[in-house]
Amino acid sequence: MTAANEAKAILQRLGVAEAAWGGVMPTRSPIDGSSAGTLVATADLDAVVARSARAFHAWKRVPAPRRGELVRLLGEELRASKDDLARLVTLEAGKIVSEGLGEVQEMIDVCDFAVGLSRQLYGLTLPSERPGHHMRETWQPLGPVLVISAFNFPVAVWAWNASLALVCGDPVIWKPSEKTPLTALATQAVLDRALARFGDAPEGLSQVVIGGHDTGQTLAADVRIPLVSATGSTRMGRAVAQTVAARLGRSLLELGGNNAMIVAPSADLDMAVRAVAFSAVGTCGQRCTSLRRLLVHDSIADGLIERLAKAYATQPVGDPREDGVLVGPLIDEASAQGFETALRQAVEQGGEIVVGGDRVDRDGCYVRPAIVRMPAQTAVVEHETFAPILYVMTWSDFDEAVAMQNAVPQGLSSCVFTDSVREAEAFLSAWGSDCGIANVNIGPSGAEIGGAFGGEKDTGGGRESGSDAWKAYMRRQTQTVNFSSDLPLAQGVKFDV
Ligand code: NAD
Repeated sequence: MTAANEAKAILQRLGVAEAAWGGVMPTRSPIDGSSAGTLVATADLDAVVARSARAFHAWKRVPAPRRGELVRLLGEELRASKDDLARLVTLEAGKIVSEGLGEVQEMIDVCDFAVGLSRQLYGLTLPSERPGHHMRETWQPLGPVLVISAFNFPVAVWAWNASLALVCGDPVIWKPSEKTPLTALATQAVLDRALARFGDAPEGLSQVVIGGHDTGQTLAADVRIPLVSATGSTRMGRAVAQTVAARLGRSLLELGGNNAMIVAPSADLDMAVRAVAFSAVGTCGQRCTSLRRLLVHDSIADGLIERLAKAYATQPVGDPREDGVLVGPLIDEASAQGFETALRQAVEQGGEIVVGGDRVDRDGCYVRPAIVRMPAQTAVVEHETFAPILYVMTWSDFDEAVAMQNAVPQGLSSCVFTDSVREAEAFLSAWGSDCGIANVNIGPSGAEIGGAFGGEKDTGGGRESGSDAWKAYMRRQTQTVNFSSDLPLAQGVKFDV
């Protein structure tokens, strides 16, 4: 069966409305290039935002733990549909089966987290300088949240945002990637089941909008949407951030990464090889946290590169539905061309391709992951090419390695492999890694939902998922209550009338 036909069968089983089909936006599986048909782009964006604004007026009055009940039901429905939704992720985004399942598990995990959070949206009480006064800080619902998502985590990114936004009292408008709209429609169908069981949620609490960049821009410009959470390339983030800033809205940006691993002479190289293989090759190098730069001490570089080349040579590339395949396709032809262009530039800039770099001859866009030894961090290394290319550079002094790790425009994820406490702690110190994520003896990809996820510099500065990332979805209010019968002014100001 073609990937597209299998996808259509799953969509039917999940109850995606027939009305979605027969439009102008083509869908295509990267596995074999087959098309499931065309989707109708959402025409009336004004009506979508108006519905969301109306839903907000009702939803903010629902107590937070009750809002959490909806997210609990969503978690249950996701568990029930896990296999179907994960399969659809594989079919539409080209992830191997275990990564598709992992992505839906991440949605379930963040729902569980958000349910607990719905009873923990803690504020503060503060001492007032005035007698007979109380001060407190309270977190209030914010309003409709626009989620713009990328193709490579077609459903988990929505769940990170939506589960938190919903318990915080905010409706969600979701503009998924035009490369992965089917998984979005399927996710909405799963949420619809949770909404039906919940009973009295307002209409328009969660809506999917089908469209491309222009649709994203139109929504980002809408003053009725106080928060735009956008995940994708730095180019997209710059455009969206400027649109949102022009109307003084808030953006939460999760953009490109250029993640490095420092390997020190004391490192456990067996672990390092496994960590490199997963983080540089997994998802065919299409994770924001994929390993792109390997910074190795010059005394161990030759041996490590040799071991990696052997590991790469045995990695099966092919149909991600098949058992044993670890590397599926790139998302589309443009991405495969980006891979080839970057490799050409790397060679022009003094690089030597150690392994991989060629196309696999089959339908779809399949390439062999490449390792390229570079003389330095040249221009091509500083750029995020969203494909499986690992650039290797060497160092002789640990401070130099940290400086190299930090010397790129992006600041998402980073790691060091070392057995030295001094090196590990220096890497995690104020003068160490400048990234949002810093790991010791763990690769840069595969974060848990409990931590705040995001990065600095060109990665956009946003934080999603765990820790106190929920605060981005709420409005902070400082409240002062006077229970005395006097009216003292702060700072001792006198103003007697
Ligand atoms: P992309 O930037 O091409 O598209 C992402 C989304 O933004 C899509 O929905 C697209 O329609 C929309 N979009 C693009 N330009 C827009 C504009 N000018 N205005 C409004 N909307 C616009 O990214 P992609 O190719 O889908 O995904 C890959 C990129 O996403 C990589 O750079 C990757 O690192 C990044 N990413 C980052 C994270 C993170 O958490 N930091 C997670 C996943 C992906």
